[in-house]
Amino acid sequence: MKLGIIGSGQLGLMMILEGKKLGVEFLVIDKSKDGPASRIADKAYDYEEFKDFVDSSDYVTYEFEHVDERVLNYAKEQEKLRPGLLAVELKRDRSREKTFLRENGLPVGEFEVAENADAAIKSAKEYGDAVIKSAFGGYDGKGQYLVKDGLLEDDLPEGKYVVEKFVKFDMEASVIGARDPKGNTAFFDSSLNVNYKGMLYYNAAPIEDSGMRDIVKSLMEKLSYVGVMGVEFFIKDGKPYINEFAPRVHNSGHHTILGSSISQFEQHVRAVCGIPLADPELYRPSGILNLVGISLDEKMRDKILLTPETQVYWYGKNGIRKRRKVGHINITAKTYVELLEKIKTLSSTVYGSELDNFFSY
Ligand code: AMP
Repeated sequence: MKLGIIGSGQLGLMMILEGKKLGVEFLVIDKSKDGPASRIADKAYDYEEFKDFVDSSDYVTYEFEHVDERVLNYAKEQEKLRPGLLAVELKRDRSREKTFLRENGLPVGEFEVAENADAAIKSAKEYGDAVIKSAFGGYDGKGQYLVKDGLLEDDLPEGKYVVEKFVKFDMEASVIGARDPKGNTAFFDSSLNVNYKGMLYYNAAPIEDSGMRDIVKSLMEKLSYVGVMGVEFFIKDGKPYINEFAPRVHNSGHHTILGSSISQFEQHVRAVCGIPLADPELYRPSGILNLVGISLDEKMRDKILLTPETQVYWYGKNGIRKRRKVGHINITAKTYVELLEKIKTLSSTVYGSELDNFFSY
């Protein structure tokens, strides 16, 4: 079986590391052949070779939403694309994603679609506290503008926006679900997600589900979805509201590599290749600390690994800059409280008290 992956970042890298043991071969396509996943693939392609890439793959999946149209469309035409095109199309325009969720009766916070900057500012002022999000190309807090008490802190460039009422959430959380071609579903334990400046800083599982799994199941069914999906939630007064979904393996599921009976990456490969899904069991409380914008020397790596039950994943990206995810640490512990303590200690080992230096724009 040959699985093609569109995109060559860390998610593809970990998919290959976890999927190879099933005997699956991996083909990777991206704009160039030097990404982390391309370097360990059985064969790497660039976008000009998209037909050959699709023709050589039994199934084609993606590890990033913002990828070349030609390869997506051709893979769809050949009936090889898993998950399908709808999920990725919804992700390319945030207003379509949010509207789809609301129209399908899934819980989302209050929002309005604004066709231009003036309309966005008007809606945001009506909400008082709001987040104006660019409809196109935004992820990890990119293209987002905060409005507080009706005041916009930055200039708003012209464009189409989604204006969301600011959710005064008690916490952020996510669920990683999987659905196979026959419609069977399976779920990982939910995790607490702590974001900093719009990016995942660390996460910790398990937490109470609060109805999130049922919502993810329903979303996957409405999309006739095949593969692993990560869904981010705001939890307010015990109720979950979807912030956004990712039609792929997700940063908040990386801890499953160490703490779970199956990783999200293997589960995704199984789902898209039609290999039986596992019902994941979290063996121990587990989480990750993201490595953002730092260069990891061997001394630092070894210092991190002195903490028991940790793993370092270094993605080998070309070029380290602020707000760039360059690796993560997997951490498990006997108890959830101990897990949070370990994460805090590791965070001060890695970032000291200078978190802002690494996560700021
Ligand atoms: P996103 O890129 O949409 O996932 O947003 C990044 C982060 O910004 C989220 O994880 C939240 O921490 C914060 N955020 C986004 N939208 C809202 C909202 N409507 N209310 C409060 N915080 C938000």
